[in-house]
Amino acid sequence: MADTAGSRPSYDPQDPFAPTAVRSMLQIPSPAEAGLRMGPIEKIYLIWLAGGSCDGCTVAVVAATQPPVEKLIAGLVPGLPRVELIHPGVALEAGAAFTENLAMAERGELDAPYLIVWEGSVFENDSSGEGAFYRLGQDRDGRTTSSTEWLSRLAPNAAAVVAIGSCAAWGGIPAAQGNVTGSIGVMDFLERDYRSALGVPVVNIPGCSPVGDNFMETAAGVLLFLQGMGPLPEFDELGRPVWIFGETVHRRCPRGGYYEEGIFAEAYGEKECLVELGCWGPVVQCNISERGMVNGIGGCMNIGGICIGCTMPGFPDKFAPFYAVPPGTLVSATTSRVFGGFTRRMREVTQQDKNITGRWEGKDKPSGWARFQSRPTKSAKLVHKLYRAYQNTKIGN
Ligand code: SF4
Ligand code: SF4
Repeated sequence: MADTAGSRPSYDPQDPFAPTAVRSMLQIPSPAEAGLRMGPIEKIYLIWLAGGSCDGCTVAVVAATQPPVEKLIAGLVPGLPRVELIHPGVALEAGAAFTENLAMAERGELDAPYLIVWEGSVFENDSSGEGAFYRLGQDRDGRTTSSTEWLSRLAPNAAAVVAIGSCAAWGGIPAAQGNVTGSIGVMDFLERDYRSALGVPVVNIPGCSPVGDNFMETAAGVLLFLQGMGPLPEFDELGRPVWIFGETVHRRCPRGGYYEEGIFAEAYGEKECLVELGCWGPVVQCNISERGMVNGIGGCMNIGGICIGCTMPGFPDKFAPFYAVPPGTLVSATTSRVFGGFTRRMREVTQQDKNITGRWEGKDKPSGWARFQSRPTKSAKLVHKLYRAYQNTKIGN
């Protein structure tokens, strides 16, 4: 508090009511002094490897906010170890100095455990002719190595292997019909019996591109588990986090109410349900309509786009041709039109009744905003009467 006895007040920097300029002089404790990291692991290496990828997953993760990647790297997330990122796209070192990180991990010389994150599909066919796909440095004997080779060598001793994006999870676009590279996902590549050093099968965070926060949240959950501060997050039979991919995008879609009442958009730009424009939301497991793309903003149908099923193992072939009406739509949309249309009309009648105060019953609305005075029709009045009688019976019960 300010000392008003003297001519010049003195302030305690710890006093929340002290001037901002005084409070800002407070020495901020380092994360270690503040006890932010509470588990047995002080830091963890995150080794990022890429195969047949467009780098979209890296871009998505850089945009994450829950938590942001820079906070993990700075060790500023309470309870989580500091993350030492070894990523070929953002590394300051190059060549042998970079691959030495991987070699040290293989030789068990790192001073902390490591996670592997793989982005892109794994090319199975050696269709590169004289060249080579995704080369990644050389061994000490001068032999060229590839990202796939590093994955094989490092996966057995990793704390966990996370496949980010649909290419890494299932094969994705590179594995579409034709598949000249023989693209497959990490799970197929490491095979069914693969377990990490801690007994964890491959974790999959699909999406093309994935939502960055889906990855960060899952990684944070796995890190809390490694810290002994929580259970292993729940994954489904395909290694997807259940709380993220356990529901269809349709169930959380902001346009779901229109679907329920049988109202469908006829063209892009309209606000209603997009199913008749080719939306696969009712069967696709994805949370983007609820979470948004970046920091709660964007996401397919939130901004007017249909779902093309990019998180699903059957993507893209089983959802092609995109923007065509899915085969089941005729049945489901017609059912929704019939039953939803009836429900909507009944709701409109009730809504009309609830928009009238008791004082206005049987009179014109007193609002000067009303362009014309409308009163309920005789049949609507009858429905209101019956509905109120029914309501009263319910309340009486
Ligand atoms: S736009 Fe797609 S996800 Fe949204 S309600 Fe319609 S069908 Fe469902
Ligand atoms: S809503 Fe569909 S297209 Fe959009 S991110 Fe989710 S799965 Fe992919």
